[in-house]
Amino acid sequence: MGADERLREYRGKRDFVRTREPSGHRASSGPQPRFVVQIHDASTLHFDFRLQVDDVLKSWSIPKGPSDDPHDKRLAVPTEDHPLEYEDFEGVIPKGEYGGGTVSVWDRGTYEPLSHDRKGRPVDFAESLERGHATFRLHGSKLHGEYALTRFRGGRGDGEEEAWLLVKKGGNRANGHGSPDPRRARSVRTGRTLSQVAAEGGEE
Ligand code: MN
Repeated sequence: MGADERLREYRGKRDFVRTREPSGHRASSGPQPRFVVQIHDASTLHFDFRLQVDDVLKSWSIPKGPSDDPHDKRLAVPTEDHPLEYEDFEGVIPKGEYGGGTVSVWDRGTYEPLSHDRKGRPVDFAESLERGHATFRLHGSKLHGEYALTRFRGGRGDGEEEAWLLVKKGGNRANGHGSPDPRRARSVRTGRTLSQVAAEGGEE
């Protein structure tokens, strides 16, 4: 399946005359796959966690945001695949449009796929996600280290909504700061808070 097919749901939900979100046409990026975590002040304030898999960003909405404390299990609900350029998107989606509200780029960087099978052999990362358990090491400005995404509900083709958990692996609690406060956190891209992005929009 190519990016055009994968992005059909994303594009179908948006009117690109009204929103400044990207419609998606970048072919690919560097050798390391990318990740981005955005704060999205929409109907509910949440974080969006996106991992590049081939030519799209696989996406989960994380109500409480990622935590660097291995004891925290963060609910992650899958959303539609986003285009690669979305990692740059920071600004205001107009009210009344899909996802209307303010978006800021909280963290981003590259990741190393670490998924392996029960015998410890590496497996294809996209395939591990399809099977419902993927591990990876993040190299962001804020997030570092190994994380796991694990599906615990849905995904068996029975129409039940999928639910996943994002959990930090290993390390110890003393090093963890928990989740960021989305109202105080600053964009890794522009240094702005959510309210500054809301006031200024996409302009920098
Ligand atoms: Mn969102």
